[in-house]
Amino acid sequence: MANIEKLGVVGAGQMGNGIAHVAAQSGIKVLLQDVAASALDKAMATIAKNMDRQVQKGTLTQADRDAAIARIARTTDAKAFGECDLVIEAATENEEVKKKIFAALCPVLRKDALLATNTSSIPITRLAAATDRPGRFVGMHFFNPVPMMKLVEVIRGLATEEATVQAVAQLAERMGKTVAFAADYPAFIVNRILVPMINEAVFALQEGVGDVASIDAGMKLGCNHPMGPLELADFVGLDVCLAVMEVMHRGLGDSKYRPAPLLRTYVEAGWLGRKSGKGFYDHGTTPPTPTR
Ligand code: NAD
Repeated sequence: MANIEKLGVVGAGQMGNGIAHVAAQSGIKVLLQDVAASALDKAMATIAKNMDRQVQKGTLTQADRDAAIARIARTTDAKAFGECDLVIEAATENEEVKKKIFAALCPVLRKDALLATNTSSIPITRLAAATDRPGRFVGMHFFNPVPMMKLVEVIRGLATEEATVQAVAQLAERMGKTVAFAADYPAFIVNRILVPMINEAVFALQEGVGDVASIDAGMKLGCNHPMGPLELADFVGLDVCLAVMEVMHRGLGDSKYRPAPLLRTYVEAGWLGRKSGKGFYDHGTTPPTPTR
């Protein structure tokens, strides 16, 4: 596989629309697919709004914006990917959903086409084994929001061929991203390091070492982090943080990855962070008020 000129994206949610946006802006033709037509409408509206903002800021011309939008086709047909050089799966984080997508996708893909997944937590090797092309299957982990975040983790499954790794790394660079190469271990690189730090902040909160404001001020002003760990947990979603800890705890079998009981309690209360309005902060006030 030489250059990737036609990209399929499965799933038009937060990540799928960001991947489509950046790829189209980089001159690549994109076919964006979702089971829900409403998700496709919403994705196109989000892409248009985000590109308009770039035009207003002077980082994109109106002509380039129009050309980029014109490069994105959309479909609800799961079998429309026959001409794609690469398909990136960015659908709901659920192993069965992803395996069903691959089962429908593989028979219609060209034999030499590559397949990537944006999963945050499912082993790449296990997903690869559910396809007809483990050598041409790879993890391509983008960060949210995709147009803003410069990193892509490229994750090799056990069977991933070097040519596959190089092809998607080249694509990521063409999209203006920097690649970090990761082995297929639970949570890869960034979440492996970030989420235990958040979990430790929740342990510190639970034990009364500090309150929410002190813990976040400590890490912002003492370590120069742009956001405190609890503020960041609210941004990421406490359910997502808990799920990542559980994946690491199960996958690595080390008690140092046990989720903080208070994190679980917040999730059980439905206090999931910004998306539910309340987490370690109440987001109904300006500025948000600490809940502990
Ligand atoms: P999301 O819920 O915003 O979007 C998922 C989309 O997938 C929805 O539009 C849904 O309709 C669609 N979908 C579900 N089943 C489908 C199917 N069978 N075929 C086609 N589309 C289908 O989710 P998201 O946050 O964009 O996450 C997508 C993937 O990216 C997940 O694997 C997640 O782990 C990963 N990821 C998320 C983030 C993040 O911060 N949100 C960061 C990195 C990676």
